[in-house]
Amino acid sequence: MADRAPTLNLGALSGVWASVYALRDRLEAAADREVIAEWRSVVEGLDLTDVIATVEQSAPAAGGDPAAAALRRRHLQQVTAAAVLARLTMVTRAPGWPALIAVLVAALRRARAAGQRAGHAVGDGSDDGLDDDGQDDDASGDDARDQVSAYDVAAAALKALAAVVARQLLAAVAGGSSTSALASLVATALSDGLVWTLTVTTALGVVFTTGMGTAYAARGVLQFDFVTAGDASVCATCADAEDANPYPAASVPFPPLHPNCRCSIEPAGSED
Ligand SMILES: [Zn+2]
Repeated sequence: MADRAPTLNLGALSGVWASVYALRDRLEAAADREVIAEWRSVVEGLDLTDVIATVEQSAPAAGGDPAAAALRRRHLQQVTAAAVLARLTMVTRAPGWPALIAVLVAALRRARAAGQRAGHAVGDGSDDGLDDDGQDDDASGDDARDQVSAYDVAAAALKALAAVVARQLLAAVAGGSSTSALASLVATALSDGLVWTLTVTTALGVVFTTGMGTAYAARGVLQFDFVTAGDASVCATCADAEDANPYPAASVPFPPLHPNCRCSIEPAGSED
């Protein structure tokens, strides 16, 4: 059931949930800042001139059969995204790339540790310890797993960024933009960090809520509730997840269920 207010109204939180979301927001903001700074240093100087030239030459002719034109546009989007991704992947050999991965690893560990603290705080109904953002204080840390997660996050961001650059490039070519306008459009898309923000925020959300689940399990909680959170209304996916409460701990759908999902989990039967 959609079209209803979230259980946790992010604009009017109080008590422990206010502290939990404030902590999560601070961690995400810090990670976004750190990752984007590293990203800008590795992507600086990446030259997509040849990709832009190829796209300009392959712009589809106007008119013709609409179905065929749509198919050709989709094909062009895929081919262009693949070409951009091939270039973006080159930055993984840049000297600054390991530093970007290291920043991601640290952010994921902080988020997992913070999620565990948040889970205990929700369990206790007390926000003790949530004003400390922690550093690499994750007792359950696993270097190999964190490294793999960081590479997965980075790969997802590069792929999403390639699709965005391709879409913007093709739209601008179709709109008749000049080559220099295309170059500056690409430069902006590469450096604005928007795709990284969305990707990193989503990844941190997963790790944070999973950390909360780890804390609940450590406290002997056997059933979890999915809790919708948002500013105005709840999307159907998350509303349905909440309507199916409670869940055995092992089968709760861990939010975020989609990009920008702010939902959470709590011990079943908790009062909000
Ligand atoms: Zn949600």
